Amino acid sequence: MKRSLLIKPTMNEQYPTVSYGKGIYLYDNKGKRYIDGSSGAVTASLGHGVYEIIKSMQNQANKVSFVYRSQFTSEPAERLAEKLNKLVDADEDYWSFFVNSGSEATETAMKVAIQYWQEQGNFKKQRILSRWVSYHGITLGALSMSGHINRRERFVSLLEDYPSVTAPYCYRCSFDKTYPTCQLMCAHEVEAAIKRIGADHIAGFIAEPIIGAAGGVIVPPDGYYQKVREICDRYNILFIADEVMTGIGRTGKMFGLDHWGVKADIVALGKGMSAGFTPMAATLVSEKVMKPILEGSNSIMSGHTYSANPQSAASALAVLEYIENNNLVDKVKENGTYLLKRLKEELSNLEIIGDIRGKGLMIGVEFVSDKNIKQSFHNNGAVTNKIVKKAREKGLLIYPSSAGQDGVGGDAIIISPPFIILKEEIEELVSILMEVVSDIQKELG
Ligand code: PLP
Repeated sequence: MKRSLLIKPTMNEQYPTVSYGKGIYLYDNKGKRYIDGSSGAVTASLGHGVYEIIKSMQNQANKVSFVYRSQFTSEPAERLAEKLNKLVDADEDYWSFFVNSGSEATETAMKVAIQYWQEQGNFKKQRILSRWVSYHGITLGALSMSGHINRRERFVSLLEDYPSVTAPYCYRCSFDKTYPTCQLMCAHEVEAAIKRIGADHIAGFIAEPIIGAAGGVIVPPDGYYQKVREICDRYNILFIADEVMTGIGRTGKMFGLDHWGVKADIVALGKGMSAGFTPMAATLVSEKVMKPILEGSNSIMSGHTYSANPQSAASALAVLEYIENNNLVDKVKENGTYLLKRLKEELSNLEIIGDIRGKGLMIGVEFVSDKNIKQSFHNNGAVTNKIVKKAREKGLLIYPSSAGQDGVGGDAIIISPPFIILKEEIEELVSILMEVVSDIQKELG
């Protein structure tokens, strides 16, 4: 009996025990090889066992692994903050508040937004506006912002009801419209929600530039974020981008919002920021937001023991340098275009495939029981679980997601391999997936 609790004790029995990783492959202790087709949880962007990152972690460990954030800063933490500042916006300065997980990054973003208004004497703006079909993390503040019904339901009495608007989910448009004749009703809904709640009560609006775990990769229509940004400005509401999944190159741009030329006031990063080498995440706070904080209490009212850990900062810095030195963001664009095309060519005609979509190497596949009417399976994610399990048996790891109208009842997976994947490895991934989905389709009858 394995005693480390992953999902369910009984399921632990089915999980292989990892032995080592190299490139896009992971190997278990019985010698079986797996393609890491999802970079774990869309995290190990550079693949496994990357010499340059390991070396820089070793070098840092030889100097110092831990200092407490209110006693010391460190060279890697300062260099990392400077690098992120340059990457996120050439025109405005951003400060980095380092944390250890995406949930901490979004929850800090929420607190910073509230604090920003308090520093200016406004104690009424305490709410965050968020969307359904979204995921911002598992801690109670982050979960309060998340429009992920399955993950909320057990804790509803402890959560704030922040999700108030629907997602820009063109495949299942809540307004039954088609882009562009819809005139971006999903963006206008943000304004309607602000009017209903009252702008006086809203500190910020949070969104994943491309929705990940909650919706099987949902790319908004062009113009959506420009409109939302304009609405936030007009009603004095901060715009928070949750780039935990989309940030640091995953979508073929350094940040997801870069696809639409929009900047956020606060940015949450995690996952690919340290590419899985150490737990590392950050809340980037713009000059506009920092100014009243610096002039007021002069401190962000949050923090964790491991914040800005030098070991984690060294790994994240090495990851950013590696991405730059190897032009990996361009590589993601090229590989992503190819992978999306090949997935569409091979899988689109299968009966249970509803939609294949994405940007860069963040690709979602949504499954349906009836293609013509986009009917979801409504079986508690059973089809997704079957597909993920069968793929693992055949040596391919993919990330289970959910989908469906309002994000309920539907099945989806995320394909998000490491940036360094080769064309022949893409072919291998697509061919295993094709076999798996065909087998499950037959099994479903
Ligand atoms: N935000 C987004 C967009 C995510 O995808 C996730 C995790 O899947 C989180 C936040 C939470 O990150 P973590 O699991 O590191 O706490």
